[in-house]
This record gives sequence, C-alpha cells and structure tokens, in this order.
Amino acid sequence: MPTASGVKLKAPEVSALLPRESPEQYMAVALAEARLAAARGEVPIGAALVDEAGQILAQNGNRTIELCDPGAHAEMLVLREAGRLRGNYRLPRTTLYVTLEPCVMCAGALVHARVSRLVYGAIDPKAGGVVSLFQVGQDPRLNHLLAVEGGLLAAESAALLRDFFRERRTGWGMKS
Ligand SMILES: [Zn+2]
Repeated sequence: MPTASGVKLKAPEVSALLPRESPEQYMAVALAEARLAAARGEVPIGAALVDEAGQILAQNGNRTIELCDPGAHAEMLVLREAGRLRGNYRLPRTTLYVTLEPCVMCAGALVHARVSRLVYGAIDPKAGGVVSLFQVGQDPRLNHLLAVEGGLLAAESAALLRDFFRERRTGWGMKS
C-alpha cells in the first residue's frame, strides 16, 4: 500500500509535470520583476534563474536603495537566493534571464557561481560587463566561460528604463 502517492511518480512523469516555458516567458518574469522594482523606486532591472528542468529557482528585481547595498542588483539577489535554496554557492546547469546586460560585478558573480548560460534583454553600452565594456564570462583567462545570448525582449526592457529615467528627470509623480 503506498503511503505517499506523490513519490510513486516515475521520472518521465515527474519531468512532464515541470514547467517548460519559452525563453520569452522567463524573460517576461524578469520584466515583471523590473516593473516591481520601478514601483519601489529602484532602477527597473529584473532577473530570474532557471534550472535545467525549466524551474525558476529565484526571481527578483533591484533593491540597492531599499537594502542600502551596492551589491543588491537583481542578478546578485537571485544568485544568493538560489544558492541558499540549493545549499551550494555553485549553480551549474542554470540559465540567468535578466532584462539588462549585467555589470562587471554581476558578470563576475555569474562566473563564480558557474552559471551555464546568460540571456539578457537590452544591451548596456555604458556599464555592460559581458559584451559592451568588458567581456567577463568570455575571457579564457578565467576558469569558467558563460554562454551569452542578448536582445531577448530588448525593446520592452529598454522602454522600462527609458520611462523610469525620464520620470526621474521631470520629478516624481509629474508624469504628463
Ligand atoms: Zn550588476
């Protein structure tokens, strides 16, 4: 007699239960986090870390102002949470979706965490650390290489940032 019916699922059935969303859907989760960040008065950048089965391990947006922490970028928060969840600071076989090209700090953290793949939305020509200014994660002198894809839902990500900074220049709540 089965005591816990849930554990009787065979592997293929279990994997069939796991969400298998498209890259656009994962980026949509990151974009939703970016919008939440904007609502908190933070720069609208959001991220989601997805494992090899397609499960979202963690999702978050920027919280540098809220936490008084220059390291509280969306990517860092997501890596920290996923690390706690897995009980391991290494996060191999994961993909990070983030709305903006990561900075050098976050790109470095992705290398430390051994994240396999990075998918970003808009490019950041002023501070980008994986393509634009620096190519952290692509440098064979480091012991981990990151697969990088950019431009996914880039227009939506860039529009969020543009609107956010436009609003700040004209003052809070002064939106036409
Ligand atoms: Zn960063």
